[in-house]
This record gives sequence, structure tokens and C-alpha cells, in this order.
Amino acid sequence: MSVEALKSLQPAHPRSFVPAGAKLGDWAQLEPLFFKLEADAAKIKSSRGLQDWILKCSELGAAVDQEGATRYINKSCDTESAEIKKAFLHFVEEIEPKSKPHWQKLKELVLKSPFHERLPQKRWAVFLRAIKNEFDLFRPENVALQVEESKLETQYQETMAAMTVQFQGKEQTLQQMGRYLEEPDRSLREQVWNLIRERRLQDREKLEQIFDALLELREQIARNAGLPTYREYAFRQKNRFDYTPKECEDFHDAVAELVVPLARKLQKRRAKLLGVKPLRPWDSGVDAKNRPPLKPFTDVGQLVDKCYSIFNRIHPDLAKDYDILRKQRLLDLDSRKGKQPGGYQCSLEEARVPFIFMNAVGLQPDVETMLHEAGHAFHALAVRDEPLLNYRSAPMEFCEVASMSMELLGAPHLTEFYSEADAARARRTHMEGIVGLLPWIATIDAFQHWIYTHPGHSRDERKAHWLSLLDRFGGIENWSGIEDGRAYLWHRQGHLFGLPFYYIEYGIAQLGALQLWLKSKKDTNAAVTNYRKALSLGGSRPLPDLFKAAKLKFDFGPKTVKPLVRAVQKELKSLEDA
Ligand SMILES: [Zn+2]
Repeated sequence: MSVEALKSLQPAHPRSFVPAGAKLGDWAQLEPLFFKLEADAAKIKSSRGLQDWILKCSELGAAVDQEGATRYINKSCDTESAEIKKAFLHFVEEIEPKSKPHWQKLKELVLKSPFHERLPQKRWAVFLRAIKNEFDLFRPENVALQVEESKLETQYQETMAAMTVQFQGKEQTLQQMGRYLEEPDRSLREQVWNLIRERRLQDREKLEQIFDALLELREQIARNAGLPTYREYAFRQKNRFDYTPKECEDFHDAVAELVVPLARKLQKRRAKLLGVKPLRPWDSGVDAKNRPPLKPFTDVGQLVDKCYSIFNRIHPDLAKDYDILRKQRLLDLDSRKGKQPGGYQCSLEEARVPFIFMNAVGLQPDVETMLHEAGHAFHALAVRDEPLLNYRSAPMEFCEVASMSMELLGAPHLTEFYSEADAARARRTHMEGIVGLLPWIATIDAFQHWIYTHPGHSRDERKAHWLSLLDRFGGIENWSGIEDGRAYLWHRQGHLFGLPFYYIEYGIAQLGALQLWLKSKKDTNAAVTNYRKALSLGGSRPLPDLFKAAKLKFDFGPKTVKPLVRAVQKELKSLEDA
């Protein structure tokens, strides 16, 4: 069944170019609209005319985007309906590929227009910079290679998804097996962990082959674009204008110097509390005091209402925004049969409202997900008045500041769900999670920098480098007897296969979120006001300006990281007994 709330959504602003009843999932209706725009471009007589024309493109973009998003949301809420699946696949297999050359053409028309240089710079510089870059990077001969690339990525996903093991009399996916790693019974955890490891290693050869083939393709794609390495290509392709590999290395160095020692200290504490020596890889998922998981709510209505109270306690304006989701039922939260796993926030670009999807089962990670996705939703609502579609989304490095900040700002108010003691336990787990994640981000990012700047490396060299990174950023857990599991640990990180170089964003954003959290401790009102102001800029300013608007430093080196680690340490100390 399709999601009810999506059926009655109205455009935030009346359409002026797209016909009111147009069905944008129907190519016969959509294609003439592209032709119309292409023809209209010839009639542009001034920079004002060019702006109006770009806004028409933007209106079409938003309407098409919303059509795709609606089909995606419907599919994730009901994976069993053949009709919904068909509608979704029609969009990704027919509408999107057929639209692509037209979008490319529209970019070209902007850049070829003599009026583009006369657009007011302050307003248009970021837009022009992005489309010029995308246009310049485009090579027709890369299109086929990118199709090959996505086929290999699908092969990787299918290989991973097909992994199952026999356990306790039934066939289980590795995802299902993950739950047992939280069990207090250590020998059970060890058994499960080894089953997972052995299953992954069974496909080691296949995964290495897929990866090698991906590397070859990516090097070719970069060469075709006239760039010396795929790293340069990836930075360009991600519109990373405001930081370079050098800043990424600063991040790696800061994490190695300041975060890794803390992460290892926390592992020692864990080993002591669990009473194990040495700590083994299967000891990291269980509660350090062997307690059963926290149970914050029993039905999703409670999750929604209590998060409302949390936002109200942070700042009433956040609660007001959150209420839009609640009132318009732009939420599908409970876990039920036939739903896609995971959680996300998705913007409906024409109605200019967000939608939150998740699979809540009544555990603390559900609360964190809700706070996180609500942060993305606040971002979407903050840019509602921005007429240009391209400016209604910010770079990922800042989008995640919006969401990760809400996890941190919400943490003091977890007493909406828990006793004081349980809230402290949830806060501690969250903080430890942040400390654990930063070194992993550095590991994955540093690995990719090495891989793509060492073309022609052998599998053994790759393995050796991976292991050296784990020595630098990894934990104190003991791997003796299971060294092969450590050597190929990276196989499970899908980003390396499917989303190359996409990962450092989370690290950059986490540093921003921690800064905002520190500011909120001094003055929540001011921190939230700056946060909302920065969110409302959407993607209309360069990345450093977005950080600046939120009064955050855009810097990933030790100078920025040090005070943050100190604050995290202090927080953990205050939660010592939790
Ligand atoms: Zn997010």
C-alpha cells in the first residue's frame, strides 16, 4: 500500500512551468517539458531572463525529484507490492537514464548563455561553480564505464547480501547474526563472530576480484577525464572545492594523536568491567556491564511524542518544526514485515517537506536515529523558502552536522525516556560510539587515499597497508589465531566498493557537531539560533561559510580536535558510573 500522507501533498508554491496535472513518471509527458526548456533557452535576452529560465528548470527538477522520492518511499514502506516495485523500477530504469542527457544539456545551455557571466555573483557563484565543474568533468566515453562500475557494485552488494550461515538450526543472514554479538554469553559471541568471519572469508577471492576490477575502471575513468589519479577525479566529482587531500591527512593525524589513545583507554575499561583478558573482537558489541538492552518505549507513538518533548526542551522552534512531521504524518517508523531495513530522511522537493523512515523496535538506537533524522528534517524545513532546487540541499559534510548535532543536543533530555541512571548509560554509550567511530573513519579514508595514489599495487601490498593502518588507528583487541579476519576486515565496508571516497564527510561533520554541542553547553539558545541560521542557507554558500554561519570552525586538524576530545573525556568522566 502506498503511503497515505504522500497522496495529498501540494506543491509549496504553485507551478508556473510544469502543467498542473502532468504525470512526471510518464516519459511521453516529461520529455516535451525538456524540449520546451531547451527551446526557451534560445529566447533568453538578459541575465534576468536567464535567472527566470533557471528557476523553471528548478521547478521541473523539484517535481521530477519528488516523483522519484515518492516512489522510493512507497517501495521502502512496502517491498512486497509488485505494483509499487514496478513503479519504482520504471522510474530508475526508464525516467532517470533518459532524463540525464537532458539535464546535461540544460547545464550546457546555462554555461553557453552569454548572460551567465552577468548573473549577480553573490547569489549565483556557488551554483555556477558546481554546474561548470560537473559539465567539465563529463566525458561521453565514461558513461559506459560507469555502467560497468555500477554493475560491479551490484555484484558486491549481492555477494554480501547472499551470505548466510546455519546457526541454532536455521539459516540466518549476517545482519541477523549481528544481534547475538550483544549477548552476555561470551562463548556464544565467539562462536557467532567466527561463523561470520569464516563466511566472509569464503568469498574473499571474489571480493578481491571485484575490487581490482573496480580500481581498473576508476583509473580509466580518471584518465579519460584528463586527471592523473582517481583521487583527483573523486574530489572533483564530489564538488570538494573547499578542502584537499592535505586536510584529510590533517584529520588522520589529529585522530591518531588525540582520539586513538582515548578509544584504547575505553577498551581497557571495557575489558576490566567485562573481566576479560585479553579483549577479543567479539567483546565490543555487548554492554560492558552485561546488562540487558535499554527499552525506551513500547510503541512508536511514544517515540514520536517523547522526541517532541526533547526538542521542545532544546528549543521551542525545533519542536514547532518537528510538529509539522507529526501533524502531516510524514513518518513511517515502526518495524513491520515487508519494510526495507534501515532508516533515512528524504525530502519531497516540490511540497518542500521532509519524510522520515525507520524500523523502530523499541531500543535506544531508535531514539538516536529519530534525533538524527529529525536533524535532517530541520534542515529540509529551514530551506523551504529557497526557490532554487540546487540550493535546497547542502554538501554532505554539513548535512550531517545538522543531524549529528541533534543526537548530541538531545542527549541531556533522554530522561524523557529513562530514569536518570538509564539516561546516563545511554549518553555514555553514545559518547563511546563517537570515540570509536572517528578512528574507523580515519582508517577507511586513509586506506582510499593510499589505494588510489598507488596504481598497480599488488593485493599483498594492499593488505600490508591496510594492516599498517589498523596498527595506527585500531584498537587493543587481540586477533591471535584469527589474523585473516583482521586482514580483510575492510571487505565489509560497502563504501569502499560502491561509494569511493565518501566517508570522511562523517568525520568532518562529527567535528562540527561536537563544536556545536560544546557551544550549546554554554548557551543553548545562541547555539540553536546559529544552527538554524546556517541550515537556512542550504547549499547557497561554500562549505566553510556554512560552518562559519553556525559559528563553527571548518578545520580538521589537532587545533580543533584537541578541545573537543578534552570535552568528550570530561563528559565520559562525569558518566564514569553509568
Ligand atoms: Zn544522516
